[in-house]
Amino acid sequence: MEGKRTRFQSESQPQSVILLTKIKEFTRALLAALTNGRSPLILIDRFRSYCTLPNSNWFDSNPNQSPFHLFVSNTNVSQCSFCASDLPCGKELLTLRRKSHAHRLAVMLRVMLIVQKLLQENKHSSKRDIYYTYPSVFLDQSVVDQAINDICILMQCSRHNLNVVSAGNGLIMGWIRFSEGERIFDCISSPNTAHPVPVHVEEVQDIISLAQYILVVEKESVFQRLANDQFCNANHCIVITGRGYPDIPTRRFLRLLVENLCLPAYCLVDCDPYGFDILTTYRFGSMQMAYDTKHLRVPEIQWLGAFPSDSERYFVPNQCLLPLTAEDKRKVEAMLLRCYLEREVPQWRLELQLILQRGVKFEIEALSVHALSFLSESYIPSKIEGKLIM
Ligand SMILES: [Zn+2]
Repeated sequence: MEGKRTRFQSESQPQSVILLTKIKEFTRALLAALTNGRSPLILIDRFRSYCTLPNSNWFDSNPNQSPFHLFVSNTNVSQCSFCASDLPCGKELLTLRRKSHAHRLAVMLRVMLIVQKLLQENKHSSKRDIYYTYPSVFLDQSVVDQAINDICILMQCSRHNLNVVSAGNGLIMGWIRFSEGERIFDCISSPNTAHPVPVHVEEVQDIISLAQYILVVEKESVFQRLANDQFCNANHCIVITGRGYPDIPTRRFLRLLVENLCLPAYCLVDCDPYGFDILTTYRFGSMQMAYDTKHLRVPEIQWLGAFPSDSERYFVPNQCLLPLTAEDKRKVEAMLLRCYLEREVPQWRLELQLILQRGVKFEIEALSVHALSFLSESYIPSKIEGKLIM
């Protein structure tokens, strides 16, 4: 895959040139320290998208919480000041004196070398391709992922700036037309046909839309149901799915659309802990990508369903309600502690509590038990018209 230019490059110096200089400076400083017999110290900022607050009270100080709270004064600063501000919440110190750090640094340098080549040759690669360059050294994909995150933090850039891109998992349909480089995505000409979400989001331009809102659905099966029902003929909207946990292109593209088109965005997920976690990933970002959350989150996104209370409102029969497993309960309990819920969407948190109280979950498809097209003909339009969203 190759990309030629980016819209957001600064006029004077392209991002790739700046990054290549930074990589050269970093390795040169490392070499200088080593040749002078010093053990180099590498400081990596730490980021988080939320902290956990066992007492639901973020002014309480709890000595057992993450060590980064040591950096916060207890008197007049909320412990959430980092989560709420996109600032780093501390630093990690890498030193060659520790074996695990030395390996991490060795991996980082190898990945940096690959990134340097990608930038010099103006080529793109996936995280998976990078892993397969030296599988015997990297041993595991997660090691490569961490190195890429470390490099982004050190170089203060986003992953796509390194020319490292995802294969692209997302799908889109509806009342929109845009281009990605030379490629035209003309969804309007057949609004119920799925198109892949563009991978090079920075090259997307000429966005034209006749939509009134954006609907994000968790699952491909629901997306296909809506496509089969010709949902976009009756509803002037754009439908996107990340097919489970959304990847970076899907989240960046959704954000680009919300910013450019100023349309409301609604999210439809299963009424279970995973659905709720996916909803929060769209709105608040993930912990893994916390360093880049400011470019990935979509704070405007609203929760359309399925709420725990929807099972009664829409008469979902008991046999479609599944009991929460022990793991589900643990996941919900852990999510209830996330500071942003209480701070920004307290009503979401109440619904999450309700899942736990009722001890049951259900899939979006369970709403269609009475009629196959229930989602497209009744549920979604009635939720939007009746403002039954949160
Ligand atoms: Zn917090």
